Amino acid sequence: MAQNGTTANGVVEEIQTHPLPLPVKVSNIRHTKIFIDNKWLPSTRGRTFPTFNPATGVKICDVEEADIDDVDKAVEAAKAAGQRGSPWRRMDASSRGRLLHKLADLVERDRLLLATLETLDTGKPFLQSFFIDLDGSIKTLRYYAGWADKIHGKSMHVDENFMCLTKHEPVGICGAIIPWNFPLLMFMWKIAPALSCGNTVVIKPAEQTPLTALHIGSLIKEAGFPPGVVNIIPGFGPTAGAAIASHMDINKVAFTGSTEVGQLIQEAAAKSNLKRVTLELGGKNPCIVFADCDLQLAVEETQKGAFYNQGQCCTAASRVFVEESIYEEFVQKSIEEAKKIVIGDPLDPQTSHGPQIDREQFGKIMDLIDSGRKEGARLECGGASVADKGLFIQPTIFSGVRDHMRIAKEEIFGPVQCIFSFKSQQEAVERANSLQYGLVSAIFTKSMDRALAVSAALETGTVWINCYNALHAQTPFGGYKMSGSGRELGEYALAEYTEVKAVTIKLTESL
Ligand code: ADP
Repeated sequence: MAQNGTTANGVVEEIQTHPLPLPVKVSNIRHTKIFIDNKWLPSTRGRTFPTFNPATGVKICDVEEADIDDVDKAVEAAKAAGQRGSPWRRMDASSRGRLLHKLADLVERDRLLLATLETLDTGKPFLQSFFIDLDGSIKTLRYYAGWADKIHGKSMHVDENFMCLTKHEPVGICGAIIPWNFPLLMFMWKIAPALSCGNTVVIKPAEQTPLTALHIGSLIKEAGFPPGVVNIIPGFGPTAGAAIASHMDINKVAFTGSTEVGQLIQEAAAKSNLKRVTLELGGKNPCIVFADCDLQLAVEETQKGAFYNQGQCCTAASRVFVEESIYEEFVQKSIEEAKKIVIGDPLDPQTSHGPQIDREQFGKIMDLIDSGRKEGARLECGGASVADKGLFIQPTIFSGVRDHMRIAKEEIFGPVQCIFSFKSQQEAVERANSLQYGLVSAIFTKSMDRALAVSAALETGTVWINCYNALHAQTPFGGYKMSGSGRELGEYALAEYTEVKAVTIKLTESL
């Protein structure tokens, strides 16, 4: 939108202003069934489950509940869609790319509706859904759309006069099990590389947040993907999720969620058909803030890392190690920053902090906050729920945190920032590496030499230097140690979704 404005030197000029996007009114939810073979099906066992708005506790709608039999049906559809000679297998790779772009176009068209559904179902602030989650989803689709016709093997002249050609073939049926904290984004992180490489998909959204995944089902059909290429199975973990992990005809499973469930998935894969497994699990992510940093930047970025999405991120910046000489100033500035956070109705564009996802998570977080107090950490701000308002917890800061405390070791998955103090670089690195998690870390310093040396020593899949939560479709993402295995995003993810076939030819003449 354009309007006239007056600059400081009195010149009237046209200023571009961008009105904030607003949520749409959703009076009834159109897609609540199981999506198999491009059709909407009821639950085979005739069951439904409710999905709730965590900001109000009010039920949004009932969704058809998929169980083992529905997973079997989805696998049959995926098998038929991916068999040799099927339209999907015969399709030019460039056409697969065009379909992914078409899906991205439809997601852009329905952006306001998708952002509204995401906020209703998760409680995350609407502008975050609209800008960050939708942007990331669209960019992921377009990034892998671009890869579809650039996935090539090699030709090699090997010993003893043989020629070897490598071909990158689809793995087959890819199962995906995703969490409730970024339902739409995780859906795209899973389907986009799988489809780019020519696979078929059976995907289970989290039981707390099935709505955007189901809307995407309608867009997959509208985009023109052949029936059975993507199948969406709303249901629970121990039933529908476990059926995916142990299915004999699923060739790969990609999982994002807790470390405990990741272990179950890997075990089920091993005990069934040794399907490939990629896991993106928990974190207890360290930030190291050196005295020579840009202090305001470090305060803002670490806090964004701790409280973003109400702290419900595997990447949450939950251990902030600050060099002793700037410790008190860092804590004071962090408290000031936390006071700027606006808690409220997540559909209101002014809101920056919404509710936790459900009562179980709420209870776990409040218990950990309580343990922090009891174990002697200093509660600097927050620490309580917000009265009369659903599942809201105040942004909470603890200083004086010691490594043995529960809040220093356990993944909190809530809006709790723990600030530690350190004396030497070596000590900070050792403490940062001391846990079994290894997802992400961050370093704040103006010395690039130091940042690079410390980044080499940190045992995490991602190291952010002077920034936090800087995730891009081009950049690989995944964990060391018990934070997971394999990589998502970037060119690296393609290897997770392709089999390499070596075709070796005996040459009769020397080349
Ligand atoms: P959280 O604890 O944050 O809810 P979970 O790891 O429990 O995370 O859930 C992530 C996803 O894993 C969800 O889709 C959930 O339904 C699924 N899930 C939970 N338990 C199992 C299981 N035993 N087997 C397969 N999937 C599961």
